[in-house]
Amino acid sequence: MAVVGVLALQGSFNEHIAALRRLGVKGVEIRKPEQLHTVTSLIIPGGESTTMAKLAEYHNLFPALREFVRMGKPVWGTCAGLIFLANKAIGQKTGGQDLVGGLDCTVHRNFFGSQIQSFETELSVPQLASQEGGPETFRGIFIRAPAIIEAGPEVQVLADYPVSSDRLLSFDSSIKDKMENTEEESKVIVAVRQGNILGTAFHPELTADTRWHSYFVKISMEIGEETLSSLVPAQVS
Ligand code: GLN
Repeated sequence: MAVVGVLALQGSFNEHIAALRRLGVKGVEIRKPEQLHTVTSLIIPGGESTTMAKLAEYHNLFPALREFVRMGKPVWGTCAGLIFLANKAIGQKTGGQDLVGGLDCTVHRNFFGSQIQSFETELSVPQLASQEGGPETFRGIFIRAPAIIEAGPEVQVLADYPVSSDRLLSFDSSIKDKMENTEEESKVIVAVRQGNILGTAFHPELTADTRWHSYFVKISMEIGEETLSSLVPAQVS
């Protein structure tokens, strides 16, 4: 059974552990580099990414986190965690902020605005329906949420979301041009998968719906099996 680590420096790590528990999966708090060896996959929660980066720096976690991602182990970043996993972050106060990286995306911090512009919305996520045979909508909770404005070819888009015309006015053309723009609307990406990396701009751990957590556990088990089978020598018949 997968043991899921949850980076527990700051933010909503308890809520992730509780969501995993509801699925019967053990989640363990990670605060030190050596603890990463004890888990098969990792969740980086939402919170405040500059604070989380300072704490990760203080605990010398960046090299071990980068190695974890580079080794192909499953990692899921929610909100601030998504910012952590992006190769590039732009937007408010990103100067000098250390990132783990690995996800071939440009993430815009606080894309949807500040705390008072936080919102909830129904997202269409076909991948969740095919996993569970249930509805494909998911109630996304966006709190000072980032958005992915640019994604590389290896990145699978799991959900996107239209940008309101008011919000659009606050961006200059260098950012607007990166969005997916049609005559009717502009869209940004809010959930992605790139191999072992899953990223969501919203907070599934703050809902009672555990489908994202079961999707991540499923990815973790699949990747775990692949790694195991690559270690077992092929049978000679
Ligand atoms: N915008 C926040 C940041 O930059 C993330 C918000 C969140 O995780 N809810 O860290």
